Amino acid sequence: MTPDAILALYEWVIGACFRCGDANLFVTPIDAVVTPRGERYPLAACGGCVLDMEEERRRFAERKGEKYHPGRLGRPPA
Ligand SMILES: [Zn+2]
Repeated sequence: MTPDAILALYEWVIGACFRCGDANLFVTPIDAVVTPRGERYPLAACGGCVLDMEEERRRFAERKGEKYHPGRLGRPPA
């Protein structure tokens, strides 16, 4: 699967990337942090970081002998 095809699996909005800290670029919602007081902070990642994390997932699946499914960052396992 090409990087473009992987990125096309996500929806993009302008925001800041929690992983590399860049702001005002296209990001996709990945996760959220909930504080002990119940405040919810959404986390989003930019394209470069999404591809890094997808590559980590791919290697992890390979090590475990499982099939890798791109496009599932921040989504519950199917
Ligand atoms: Zn980033």
